[in-house]
Amino acid sequence: MDLLDTLTAKGLRGEVPTREEALAVLATTDDELLDVVAAAGKVRRRWFGRRVKLNYLVNLKSGLCPEDCSYCSQRLGSKAEILKYTWLKPEQAADAARAGVAGGAKRVCLVASGRGPTDRDIDRVTDTMAAIKDADPEVEICVCLGLLSDNQAERLKAAGADAYNHNLNTSESTYGDIATTHTYADRVDTVQKAHGAGLSACSGLIAGMGESDEDLVDVVFALRELGSDSVPVNFLIPFEGTPLAQEWNLTPQRCLRILAMVRFVNPDTEVRIAGGREVHLRSMQPLGLHIANSIFLGDYLTSEGQAGQTDLDMIKDAGFEVEGAGEATLPRHRADIAAASGCGSTGSGCGSTASSGCGTTASAASACGSGGGCGPCGGHGHGDEPAAVPAGIPAEVVANGTPTEPADGLRSDLVKVRRRGAGTELAPNA
Ligand code: SF4
Repeated sequence: MDLLDTLTAKGLRGEVPTREEALAVLATTDDELLDVVAAAGKVRRRWFGRRVKLNYLVNLKSGLCPEDCSYCSQRLGSKAEILKYTWLKPEQAADAARAGVAGGAKRVCLVASGRGPTDRDIDRVTDTMAAIKDADPEVEICVCLGLLSDNQAERLKAAGADAYNHNLNTSESTYGDIATTHTYADRVDTVQKAHGAGLSACSGLIAGMGESDEDLVDVVFALRELGSDSVPVNFLIPFEGTPLAQEWNLTPQRCLRILAMVRFVNPDTEVRIAGGREVHLRSMQPLGLHIANSIFLGDYLTSEGQAGQTDLDMIKDAGFEVEGAGEATLPRHRADIAAASGCGSTGSGCGSTASSGCGTTASAASACGSGGGCGPCGGHGHGDEPAAVPAGIPAEVVANGTPTEPADGLRSDLVKVRRRGAGTELAPNA
């Protein structure tokens, strides 16, 4: 039995491949690519059918972060020309969330830059969640606020949060190369705190930062061991003004191989194509849907995605369907694990029928978290964005820096800083 037959058979049984098999997926050739996608697609359809879960990001607080995550446009010292603003008011955030839900999103991801929340910040997010759930009690809420202190996860859970996102981002052995203000162990600790409080764990990675295949496999196996219910796969958006601005290492083919490897190691876990989807998969995005069962609708934290309607059209054209609020995301056996571990009960959140529910562990997909890559922070870069803040952006929103020309051979033209939606007076892209 060759590699793909073995991986398919294991995936259909919900078994995890060996580390060597995962590495072999990343080493396949372009000639083998469609066979790899087809094999991963069988596993995806076994556990998730043709459903695509839509998630919608609301950046509660943008930029101004004291952490030094090298991939992040919101980092300390970043010259990326992103929107900068402090906490949105609960009603502002709820308005943004409503736009995403109206566009088909099942989960709203509330993200704030920073090392971690204060207790006052937990109060703010509690009020925001109440405003969102008052309008739509069925919506799932994932929170991403960085490193958690004792009892903060419990407070979020009690306030109605369904999930917590905190990405591991890369392997333990290379973590010190991408951030120095916190450690890989800090990140693991927060994922465990969230899970321990009964929150569904969302935790993922960022590919394209110069890591090796071994690093990618290491972090994906670590996420499996942590029990992440949803695994956001970010593809680095090399924002101008960040230390990784020159790291254009990914091709659409490489991205598909990475997604397939993540799927084989997490056959029955929500795999989300997160930040960098449009930038790196480009016209190959529909093939990614054959592997992943979840995406973000519309824009990312600091960069713009393709139009929300284009996302919906792509899903339909590729023969998939948007997952409804009443449908469970995770397969039954995973939801049962979640229930046994004390996660929420039912409903859209964790719980037995729940969607991405709890599970054993760690997403916000994108969110940042302290450090963590806030989700789809993604890069921002600026591409051809004007330096001026568009009309309609509140006075407290300040664009940073001066645009620079893309370097030769780089694709900074593909990166567009977010100028609409949360933190602006312009309509969100959903
Ligand atoms: S990833 Fe999160 S913690 Fe790290 S610099 Fe960005 S906003 Fe700050």
